[in-house]
Amino acid sequence: MAQFAVIGLGRFGVTACLELAHQGHHVCAADISDSTVNHYAHQLSYTVVIDASDEAQLARLDLISCQAVLVAIGENIEASILCVLHLKNLGVKEIWVKACTKSHHQILSKLGVSRIIHPEEEMGVRVAQALNYPMVNQYFALTQSTFIVELAIDLHLSGRTIGWLLKERGSDIKPLTLRRDEYFNTELNLDTELRHGDSLVLLGSKTYLTKLAKRFKVL
Ligand code: ADP
Repeated sequence: MAQFAVIGLGRFGVTACLELAHQGHHVCAADISDSTVNHYAHQLSYTVVIDASDEAQLARLDLISCQAVLVAIGENIEASILCVLHLKNLGVKEIWVKACTKSHHQILSKLGVSRIIHPEEEMGVRVAQALNYPMVNQYFALTQSTFIVELAIDLHLSGRTIGWLLKERGSDIKPLTLRRDEYFNTELNLDTELRHGDSLVLLGSKTYLTKLAKRFKVL
């Protein structure tokens, strides 16, 4: 069980708090609004009313013990930036910040935070990719160009082998695991047969995986 803090309890901040709590972590949830904090007090173990643009108020929370602090103040860019500065002064190492505008992003990257999040854009990209490649159940970017993707094996591919699927791209894409029901097969080779309902997890460059997903679409 780790300790986290979320500052700003809008829809994004609250969702992050509830998920962290659901995963069994201790979450300090803070917001400037009394009514917002009261509203979530019964669902979260530790809630507090603070103005995050005031360093003295932030200093009263034990933020240095947190594994990460998420600044989810979107609407008030000045407060978000001041909060980040104070967190840095207080010695917090892992700071994640929700950014709303391009200038907000630019200032945050100059300040040097661990991660800048653009929820709407990131979700928009994911939804567009899911619409474009419905067979891609999940994907995870390891770097900008290296991805792990989980492909749903449909009827068309049932009975084909991994070797057939990866054909000319065999050396550029590495199959990591094949899930069939609850069983994960990690001993994969080119002769491993795919079955409708399987999930195949592949590691490779974005370019080759995209080409593969496009081929899937027309199969
Ligand atoms: P969302 O788009 O995720 O709903 P918002 O940007 O609308 O998020 O919500 C931001 C939250 O941050 C609000 O609940 C607001 O009360 C809170 N907030 C704004 N300024 C401060 C501040 N100075 N200190 C702490 N919380 C703040």
